[in-house]
Amino acid sequence: MSTEVVATAAISAEQPQSPSAPTQQNTVTKVNLLGMSRPQLEKFFEDIGEKKFRAGQVMKWIHQFFVTDFAEMTNISGKLREKLDKLCEIKAPEVVHKNYSKDGTRKWVFRVGEGDGSLVETVLIPAEHRSGLRRTLCISSQVGCALDCSFCSTGKQGFQRDLTPDEIIGQLWVANYSYMEDVPVADRERSVTNVVMMGMGEPLLNYDAVLSSMRIMLDDFAYGMSKRRVTLSTSGVVPKIDQLVKDIDVALAISLHAPNDELRNELVPINKKYPLEQLIAACQRYIAKDGNESSRKHVTIEYVMLDGVNDHPEHAQQMIKLLKNLPSKINLIPFNPFPHAPYGRSSRNRIISFQKTLSDAGFVCTIRQTRGDDIDAACGQLVGQVADRTRRAEQWKKKVAQQNEIMRSQG
Ligand code: SAH
Ligand code: SF4
Repeated sequence: MSTEVVATAAISAEQPQSPSAPTQQNTVTKVNLLGMSRPQLEKFFEDIGEKKFRAGQVMKWIHQFFVTDFAEMTNISGKLREKLDKLCEIKAPEVVHKNYSKDGTRKWVFRVGEGDGSLVETVLIPAEHRSGLRRTLCISSQVGCALDCSFCSTGKQGFQRDLTPDEIIGQLWVANYSYMEDVPVADRERSVTNVVMMGMGEPLLNYDAVLSSMRIMLDDFAYGMSKRRVTLSTSGVVPKIDQLVKDIDVALAISLHAPNDELRNELVPINKKYPLEQLIAACQRYIAKDGNESSRKHVTIEYVMLDGVNDHPEHAQQMIKLLKNLPSKINLIPFNPFPHAPYGRSSRNRIISFQKTLSDAGFVCTIRQTRGDDIDAACGQLVGQVADRTRRAEQWKKKVAQQNEIMRSQG
């Protein structure tokens, strides 16, 4: 498939520093409002001596009309707009690479934080659905990941740091805004219909920031997403699953990948801490008992198909046993290879027969479409490529500088 490259990486690495650019010393640190939930924003307004209903107004401007300039917030008095402009800002993380595929898939790489070169990625996948066009955004929660699953490119990058709420919600903001850049402010609308916390990182190990971001996703003053359309994916941080149930009602996906402890210890090492019995019990506790309309009617089970490793008929049989008392929908994910990955992708036939075994046993079992293959590697892979390219650009700049130096010294 062909790729339409909209912008390339390392642009900012190439840009010369303006001599009049402000220095670190004279920049005033402004409060970034982008990642604030409504209670936090209400408190902020009270703290600066304003009415707390301003929080809802400002949230709508930020998350529904994608306005970053206080001057455009027309239902707020000129005086308050000036005050806000002095004290705060609305700032999404910097996009260093964006790539829009012809099939509608969009992918962004963000540089997060100043100067430490941390990169995270976000992917948007469109799909026709009974209810209309779905645009699902896969959001990252950490730079890298400490859990080191053996088939995961993010895990191979190690853990660098947690993302802040504005870096998490900023990914959703940028994706929505990408459809609205040329639309007059008054006509802007939200385009992303679904969010999955399935990008880089383990969301339950960055709990507070992820929770606060998901609250903004569900808030009617912000994205107003239905709780069934926000999914958190975890490799199985059991105590945090129980905490999540208490704090928020969103859909849950479990990265299972192996139906027995021996194999799961190898593929998903956190299994040594929270083995399958504990994980399945936590999932059972997550399922809503009250029978009300809820996102907690089932869990989604993710299972990456690794050739010859976890795709044998006996593994399908073990899955049936393991999941027999857990209302679940199973999603088989064809493995996405990356350089030096110690695995291959299971053959199509093998995936289909695995699916058939599970479907025959009464499970809803789907195979994930590998969409946007031209730009979409599995999580963490594009970041690797961009980091390489940025490094190459920096090396090249160094080389040019060295050559200039040599030429100067030679007169
Ligand atoms: N840490 C969380 C969420 C991020 S990973 C978790 O593990 O659930 C999101 C999903 O991508 C997980 O199901 C993960 O197992 C899967 N994944 C990671 N590397 C992959 C690869 N190379 N091919 C296919 N899926 C992969
Ligand atoms: Fe981390 Fe998820 Fe990758 Fe495992 S699969 S290393 S938990 S991001």
